[in-house]
Amino acid sequence: MIHTVHPKLNPIREKVEAGERLTLDDGLLMYDPEVPVNDLGQLANLVRERKNGNKAYYNINTHLNATNVCVYRCIFCAFRSDLRSDKGYAMNDAQILARGKEAVENGCTELHVVGGLHHQRKFEWYRDLLKIIHDEYPKLHLKAWTAVEINWFEFLTKRPTAEILEELREAGLGSMPGGGAEIFHPEVRDQICEHKADGNNWIHIHRTAHNLGIRTNCTMLYGHVEKPLHRIDHLMRLRELQDETGGFQTFIPLAFHPENTGLDHIKKPSAVEDLRTMAISRLMLDNIDHMKAYWIMLGIGTAQTALSYGADDLDGTVRHELIYHDAGATTPEFLSVEKLENLIREAGREPVERDTIYRKVIRNSSDPTDWQIGEEVEVAV
Ligand code: SF4
Repeated sequence: MIHTVHPKLNPIREKVEAGERLTLDDGLLMYDPEVPVNDLGQLANLVRERKNGNKAYYNINTHLNATNVCVYRCIFCAFRSDLRSDKGYAMNDAQILARGKEAVENGCTELHVVGGLHHQRKFEWYRDLLKIIHDEYPKLHLKAWTAVEINWFEFLTKRPTAEILEELREAGLGSMPGGGAEIFHPEVRDQICEHKADGNNWIHIHRTAHNLGIRTNCTMLYGHVEKPLHRIDHLMRLRELQDETGGFQTFIPLAFHPENTGLDHIKKPSAVEDLRTMAISRLMLDNIDHMKAYWIMLGIGTAQTALSYGADDLDGTVRHELIYHDAGATTPEFLSVEKLENLIREAGREPVERDTIYRKVIRNSSDPTDWQIGEEVEVAV
């Protein structure tokens, strides 16, 4: 039941209630500061509850950033290091395996694997890193390598995307994260990360993954130099690919953190801006099942509130997150299952543990390392 909304929002309310698709102009109108964020929240919540009922998902996961050395210099990135800097590192096999072991011993279902594009490492290093973990811990789902990394592997090997993805899958790749999307529009991309895979490459790589049956996520980095038009354009490009392939599982709006970046003069987005972007994303991306409020970036309070502004997922317990903590994120480095579930219940939602590809996890409450995969979670189309 939608209460009265701002008069400007009435045509959009009618479309949302009728389940009709929103246009570019609708998207821009929703960024009009006169449109109250709570009205957008009401509409986004309607869509969220239609699709996901009262459920809010989370998983138990660990991060692995095997190197921070990177050939690129994206202006928003606080994580990267030069090859010869004291900050630079590249993990060896023993360290990588130790991370897998730690994940398994802590009951993780997922290892999230991303990092820098190291000047001296070959494609095989990135591939074999997955293989050694997968051979030792085959139950652990490896969500690995963004489209930017896949694009780099294409450059290193001069081989086509599909071949690389097949080889990675053979090595243990389970699905792909949605990072590296930033903002597709060249007016912005050329200012913030001119050298890495462009928007068309990013889309091409995800399309190829989807066509091979590899599920992926998608993201948008907002709150830096982009304008509402660039955000809506970005969302519409994702929606277009999803119409074609249906391969995206979840969308994660990523709030920019300026500390230690080349854009440290910019203020990070406010909670209201975060909630507005979450709600607009939910409303524009009518064909993507899940919206994730990534608590590491949004902060715990905003992520919890976002569960009523379109989000139905809080990401995971997370361990060893470096990328956003290097950029000044003040969130903890880990949340226990108990804490995550309490946050969800406090927001009036029902917590459900899922695996990476949105199947329910059935866990032995007296032994958290004993778990099995159940049915796929239900989503109304
Ligand atoms: S965002 Fe990724 S590609 Fe860009 S500099 Fe940072 S680590 Fe490298």
